[in-house]
Amino acid sequence: MKLKNYILGRWIEGSGAGQDLFNAVTGEVIASASTTGISFEEVLVYGRNVGNKNLRNMTFHERGRMIKELALHLHSKKDLFYQLSWATGATKMDSWIDIEGGIGNLFAYSSLRRQFPDTPFCVDGDAVPMSKGGTFSATHIMTPKTGVAVHINAYNFPIWGMLEKIAVNLLAGVPAVVKPATVTSYLTELMVQEIHKSKILPEGALQLIVGSARGIIEHVDMQDVVTFTGSAYTGRQLKSNPNVINNSVPFNLEADSLNAAVLGEDAVPGTPEFDIFVKEVSREMTVKAGQKCTAIRRILVPQNLVGEVQEAVSARLAKTLVGDPQVDGVRMGSLAGLDQREEVFEKVNLLAGSQEIVFGSLDTVNVTGADTKTGAFMSPILMYNDRPFEKTDVHNTEAFGPVSTILPYNNMEEAIKLTQMGLGSLVTSITTANNQIATDFVMGAAAYNGRILINNRDSAKESTGHGSPMPMLTHGGPGRAGGGEEMGGKRGVFHYMQRTSLQGSPTTLGAITKVYQPGGKYLETPVHVFRKHFEELQIGETVHTHKRTITETDIVNFANVSWDHFYAHTDVTSLDGTIFEKRVAHGYFILSAAAGLFVDPGKGPVLLNYGLEECRFTKPVYAGATIGVRLTVKEKVLQEKREDDDFRKGIVKFLVDVYDETGETVALATILTMVKTIDQS
Ligand code: NAP
Repeated sequence: MKLKNYILGRWIEGSGAGQDLFNAVTGEVIASASTTGISFEEVLVYGRNVGNKNLRNMTFHERGRMIKELALHLHSKKDLFYQLSWATGATKMDSWIDIEGGIGNLFAYSSLRRQFPDTPFCVDGDAVPMSKGGTFSATHIMTPKTGVAVHINAYNFPIWGMLEKIAVNLLAGVPAVVKPATVTSYLTELMVQEIHKSKILPEGALQLIVGSARGIIEHVDMQDVVTFTGSAYTGRQLKSNPNVINNSVPFNLEADSLNAAVLGEDAVPGTPEFDIFVKEVSREMTVKAGQKCTAIRRILVPQNLVGEVQEAVSARLAKTLVGDPQVDGVRMGSLAGLDQREEVFEKVNLLAGSQEIVFGSLDTVNVTGADTKTGAFMSPILMYNDRPFEKTDVHNTEAFGPVSTILPYNNMEEAIKLTQMGLGSLVTSITTANNQIATDFVMGAAAYNGRILINNRDSAKESTGHGSPMPMLTHGGPGRAGGGEEMGGKRGVFHYMQRTSLQGSPTTLGAITKVYQPGGKYLETPVHVFRKHFEELQIGETVHTHKRTITETDIVNFANVSWDHFYAHTDVTSLDGTIFEKRVAHGYFILSAAAGLFVDPGKGPVLLNYGLEECRFTKPVYAGATIGVRLTVKEKVLQEKREDDDFRKGIVKFLVDVYDETGETVALATILTMVKTIDQS
């Protein structure tokens, strides 16, 4: 069967015989892939002209709901993917990471919509005042790039690799062209078939290339974003392509990484930390047969514990059943193919020139339910390097399989130095119950790592583990790891958007951004804002309240009601050496008094006040001061109904500006209210 490419809005077969794709367990040919005759330029142009136009006009909330629908759909079809996943050599657990981990990413990014406004673009950060008179101001906006995300992926996670990336670009409003590694592309192709059948994504939002994409890099342009996951060699080649350099094409590189796991000096045998460490190391070696970019390649152990760690890890590895992932009890499947196994063997042989194998062998492996001649099986290999500062292959050679090396260290300084010798890693973990050890390590190693996991008896049970990149955390690492960043919640979404600083009058900026900018003109209407439904409120609409003079009695009463008897509010003899000249009113009293002034109390469309986003007390208020409030509609976010019988409502953010008799602001806050909509359908 020849796999088809989903491009230009249809399934297109490449010409010629194509590249054979093999079942990693049985060695049988299961499909072939070809891109011969396909114009990558046309694919990218189609993505920009069709997919981008469809997505960029949707709001974040619409895109987020679309991603959720897709996640639910794919979840309902997950059995289909599990059935094929075993052909990649994956066990049930490996497939779970790939399939449900990938779908989990979609869910996570769908929920992230709530951190964005219901518009196609968003404001990034606060307004920046630019002038004394307040008539010239600035802010930053993020708009979706007008190109495509070109995702070139590695072979180890054919589903997660696609979903972790497209979840992010789809939320940003940018379409994707996905190019999975050819060897396992049959699984990605199956999922794209289901995505296509579901008709959930608009046309052009996702295109798939199965087979070689050599040459595609010549056609990307400055509005596209390339993400590459794979070997450093290929990554560097693509990143240094003159087209990428000349057009400043954003290029995110995720490459080889010599990750480390460190056993703290306190974690001696008999402590929970020792057991946690041994379990984690052996699990990371065998999950996905060690074909994880985050797998532990270097096991850093206090010199005096080397023997015990080696023994304990070897004992666990000896119990790991290797074989056909469909057979009960099998814990480690095969590599993705015979070529990939050959590459790992080469790297192990290279490493064996400077360090010894202490568990496993390249020559033999007990395999259950399969044959090592036709299936890409190998034994886990544990090595020991007695002089890691001199025998340095281990710090620059990645064997992308179940291979790891124990390295001894004598003190924290050495542990940090050895970690740094990986010259940039995706992740390092340290297992310790001693917070000083953890702190020293983090301060020394953080600059060389994209992620650091600290594990101990308190966290182990719920820890997501050394090897799992999480959707809301940044995935990537400096130096050898490629210097890239993926996912990371909002940070990742911004990789597909252009940040533009906008300068102008606050009123104009408010009109463009749909967020009231301080200093912008107030819009006065005869009806109080609390009497209006969500749809009726306009950005900038302001209530100017009546005024109130603060008295000593108010301050005393508030201290009694709140039980806040802080000296500055209650003891005039204690003010020497403080910034206060007199007994000062509580900041929370000023805010409460402000509410007393701005609230229109009768029952109306405002359902509740559910908090504050920011609050500053900018000037002390003493008895005798007279305060008034300007309450301004700052931003509106329509909410989705969670249940059918919910009220339809939106969040209205109001800027509360409390000023005194001199006109100076004494307190500023953004309050969040829920307001009913007129339309309750
Ligand atoms: P690879 O050979 O570098 O291939 C990676 C991807 O690049 C594949 O899709 C490949 O397609 C494509 N490719 C190769 N040359 C290309 C070109 N000239 N133009 C366009 N695309 C091109 O890496 P691999 O052997 O598949 O993956 C294993 C490596 O990936 C390991 O070193 C591992 O550390 C790394 N990895 C890193 C991460 C991470 O997040 N940092 C994650 C997983 C894996 P074909 O398959 O068609 O050749």
